[in-house]
Amino acid sequence: APLNLQEFCQELIEGFTIGEISGHEIIFTCHSENTDALMDERLLHYILVNLLSNSIKYSPCKETIRFELTCDQIQGVAIFQIQDEGIGIPEADQSHLFKSFYRASNSQSIQGTGLGLVIVKRCVEAHNGQISFTSQEGVGTTFTITLPLNF
Ligand code: ATP
Ligand code: MG
Repeated sequence: APLNLQEFCQELIEGFTIGEISGHEIIFTCHSENTDALMDERLLHYILVNLLSNSIKYSPCKETIRFELTCDQIQGVAIFQIQDEGIGIPEADQSHLFKSFYRASNSQSIQGTGLGLVIVKRCVEAHNGQISFTSQEGVGTTFTITLPLNF
């Protein structure tokens, strides 16, 4: 049966808010009516939880997190965007971000192993999808994941 991505994201955020978060608000917006997809739910869950966790972890002042979903049924892709207003990633670190154990110079006081994004990237690629980000230190970070609706 197809997965309704809008419901999936909403439920994920609800579970997430109760569980892990302390005071961060996640604002979810869905830009598409038809969000049906055939996807591996567990991989998608893993990808989104990792990116949302990073957004929260690297937004120590409890800034708002924006989570947006767009499904383009004609192009056959789902686009997930997770945007934070946290510490950002210094430019010099950006090209190394998907390397194992790499952690940006401004995040040394925040705990992490530097493996989350490496695994996320592999999950995205296993779906024949793409991952990218834009970031500015002290301003915030936006991760964009594009996944085929039917794999
Ligand atoms: P973990 O393996 O527990 O996820 P981690 O969060 O350090 O540890 P990654 O998720 O792979 O590892 O992220 C790698 C590095 O990228 C982080 O250490 C941090 O420096 C930077 N980073 C990732 N996401 C963000 C973000 N949303 N804002 C700022 N920096 C980020
Ligand atoms: Mg992480």
